[in-house]
Amino acid sequence: MLLKFHDLLPEELKTKYFDFKFRDYPDDEFCKELLKQTILSYNNCKYYKDKICNKFDFTIPDEISIDNLETIPYVPTDIYKKSGNRTLSLSKVPLENIALFSCSSSTTGDPSIVPRTVEDYDQLQYNSIKVFTEFFGWEKLNIESKRCVAFNFSPDRLFMSIMAKRSVKGFEYVDKTRYYTACMNKPWEFYGYEEYLVKMKILKTIWAIISTFSLRGGFILDVTKMLKMIKKIKETGHWKNTEVSKILLGGSPLLMNNMFEKRLLKENVFIDLDGISLVGCGGGGWDGVKGEAKMDEVNKSRFIEYYEKVFNIKPKDIRDIYAFTECPTLFGGHWSEKYQDFLLHCPDTTRIIIRDLENLEPVSIGEEGLLEVLTPYGVNGSINQAVLVDDIVELISKNKCPECGYKGATFRIIGRLKNAQGKSCSSLINWIY
Ligand SMILES: [Zn+2]
Repeated sequence: MLLKFHDLLPEELKTKYFDFKFRDYPDDEFCKELLKQTILSYNNCKYYKDKICNKFDFTIPDEISIDNLETIPYVPTDIYKKSGNRTLSLSKVPLENIALFSCSSSTTGDPSIVPRTVEDYDQLQYNSIKVFTEFFGWEKLNIESKRCVAFNFSPDRLFMSIMAKRSVKGFEYVDKTRYYTACMNKPWEFYGYEEYLVKMKILKTIWAIISTFSLRGGFILDVTKMLKMIKKIKETGHWKNTEVSKILLGGSPLLMNNMFEKRLLKENVFIDLDGISLVGCGGGGWDGVKGEAKMDEVNKSRFIEYYEKVFNIKPKDIRDIYAFTECPTLFGGHWSEKYQDFLLHCPDTTRIIIRDLENLEPVSIGEEGLLEVLTPYGVNGSINQAVLVDDIVELISKNKCPECGYKGATFRIIGRLKNAQGKSCSSLINWIY
């Protein structure tokens, strides 16, 4: 059984980017690589050539420029849905080059499955550490003998692989499929001490899951252990004989919100973590639907207040990461008093276009639309160099964050198209599947 769950990625990916160095991704290089990935998609993927390029009446140009990125054909995230049964036909490399398939968590039982190469995972790891560096002060977490302690509001990776297998049941390469978020959690396990807070009550539940693929009951959010550990760290400055640099609370905002409302606020818990803590929300779920967790929508402003009230963690120390399975990009964000929302930033590996809901033309600053994400880095396995997402976002700035100055486009999430209009982005366009 253990073999079924073993890590299929190279060992060095665990630690390769601990000594993180920024790479340069200038515009001309970006365009050249994007053209290269578009040509590879065209030549190696029949689906891309026949369905997508045809749809857009697209022929391969001699060059791509940063001013006409909107002319590149994009694929809707929906094409990756398991129910479409076309995962293997969305690849642009031979099957033996696919290291792992990434899948999304899904409430509907219809997750996305994306084929990825080792190089793609390498880029993903780079992208992750880049966000951790820019938004969580990664390099300061691990200084001399000091290490960080990370509380992750998520199940551990073994548990996650069991759940992933369950959600992609019936897919041919189920043993080579992992949750997309698992690879972002991984570096923390090797960098400091990581405590996963979603646990199963009894061993019996594990066997229930394995044998019947049922997830009924048996879950706990181990807040008790977290509070005990925090108390110990506050008293001694240490955890398991290691000096603690920072305490991180990361993962699902839904579960964090649940912890406040169902327990900590009721019990009037107060622990002063000001200056020694950072919060990193991840994996979305602000709208109340995230994987197996079905809970009420999180009110972001109230959520920020909870952190200050219970842990004295200030809004400036609360960060968000927006990412989705179909793209290798992670968008880091910080809280904005003005918008009462997280402002998300587009890294230099990526460009975004926000498209009008009616005519799909790029919108201007201050307007809303569907998010398109373009990147030629980390997309060797599939045709996902330009992807249109179901999320409606507001374009805040095209080249620089008005609040922190981060270079690149800035946006915030307004909501999901599915929730707003009861349809997905593919239904706006008459897609031929
Ligand atoms: Zn900013």
